[in-house]
Amino acid sequence: MNFNNRRIFIKLLISLLILNNIILKKDLSAKEKIKRTKDEWKKILTEQQYYVLINEGTEVPFSSSLNNEKREGNFYCVGCNNKLFSSKMKYDSGTGWPSFFETYKNAVGTKIDFKLIYPRTEYHCSKCGGHHGHLFDDGPEPTKKRYCNNGVVLKFIAEKVS
Ligand SMILES: [Zn+2]
Repeated sequence: MNFNNRRIFIKLLISLLILNNIILKKDLSAKEKIKRTKDEWKKILTEQQYYVLINEGTEVPFSSSLNNEKREGNFYCVGCNNKLFSSKMKYDSGTGWPSFFETYKNAVGTKIDFKLIYPRTEYHCSKCGGHHGHLFDDGPEPTKKRYCNNGVVLKFIAEKVS
């Protein structure tokens, strides 16, 4: 890639990032939101949770004990206690991350990210805006969706699921 091409490529990438932010702000604006500064986040999250939720990082596969969580209950966002998934929406995808084929209504919002250059659909908690994982189209029936979630930013509570 020559110098000019690289400059155009970088400009394009920056434009896409700006567009991402506009889309993110727009789809969050309709819902009740929690706003925290980075310092406030650091006080309530562990380093690993901060890395995933705020810096949009990804945990090491098979590192979460929630991969094998099979009890009845709900999965909440560690950042704001928003109820994201139930045990009825969970399935074993074999990928090493807790996986769900559905979320509670309006629990998450999506945007496209280009971290691996090719576009991926990232999703975040609709209440605090924290990053949770990526959405793929290779899940089971009836939705065929796979919400590939970082276990470190989920809090499981064993309880009755209605
Ligand atoms: Zn949240």
